[in-house]
Amino acid sequence: MTFTTRFAPSPTGPLHLGHAYSALLAHDMARAAGGRFLLRIEDIDSTRCRPHWEAQIYDDLAWLGIAWDAPPQRQSDHLTAYRAALDGLWRRGLIYPCTCTRRDIGAAASAPQEGAAPAYGPDGLIYPGTCRAKPRPPVMPDGTVLRLNMAAALKVIGAPDTRLNFRETGTGTTRAISIDMQKLTSTVGDIVLSRKDFPGSYHLSVVLDDAAQNVTHVIRGTDLFDATQIHVVLQKLFGLATPTYHHHRLIRDAAGKRLAKRDDARAIAKYRADGATPQDIREKVGL
Ligand code: GLU
Repeated sequence: MTFTTRFAPSPTGPLHLGHAYSALLAHDMARAAGGRFLLRIEDIDSTRCRPHWEAQIYDDLAWLGIAWDAPPQRQSDHLTAYRAALDGLWRRGLIYPCTCTRRDIGAAASAPQEGAAPAYGPDGLIYPGTCRAKPRPPVMPDGTVLRLNMAAALKVIGAPDTRLNFRETGTGTTRAISIDMQKLTSTVGDIVLSRKDFPGSYHLSVVLDDAAQNVTHVIRGTDLFDATQIHVVLQKLFGLATPTYHHHRLIRDAAGKRLAKRDDARAIAKYRADGATPQDIREKVGL
């Protein structure tokens, strides 16, 4: 299979040095492998995504010398695929509606359970399972949060007898990361696969889109390392191949803090306005 990777920004703010590093690294790796570099606009959060940020992404990437090998995909164009996948999980009894508010979850998760402190997973507080046992309606509801029943999903996959691994190349050498599936109910829990305002969630769409774009190598920051085990579980549930993962270092500010979208001072647009060249940006991020 042709080496295929992607850069998948969300148009919720200006691209900064961290994005530039991620995009340049993925682009360079694709070119070095004689492969393909794709662009995907992750715009499922309609409250925060803006067309002018999307336009700025295209402009900044082109300025950096990055070319993509197919028209960019937009997640908001793939609602039918997400819905179909959710339908399948619903019919298999693997997802359930959840009506808990953030406050309900916080209260339930911090209720004294044998003195244990509330546990956090890749998506924040681990869902305490309040809605899991409630009877499901006959038809999958729209406009409701849907959660994965992680214990049921793991059973379908064959845990604990099946081992799940993914290949990680981000450390310089290729190594197999083994996922401790028995722990996933307590370290990840029943994650959200569909939101109230969107028939999907980051985890669901990223897995389906990487497969739809035939991505063989996912190159992204180490901040998403813990999300990868979730993605591998979903790939198994959907019968999709697991790509190779390359989690790269994060670009930090002088105080060692990871750059955020609101770090406008490090926005590519700001460097451009100040007269920097694409080569200056490459040097700044250590490429
Ligand atoms: N859209 C995500 C972000 O902007 C990246 C997701 C991914 O690369 O898997 O952080």
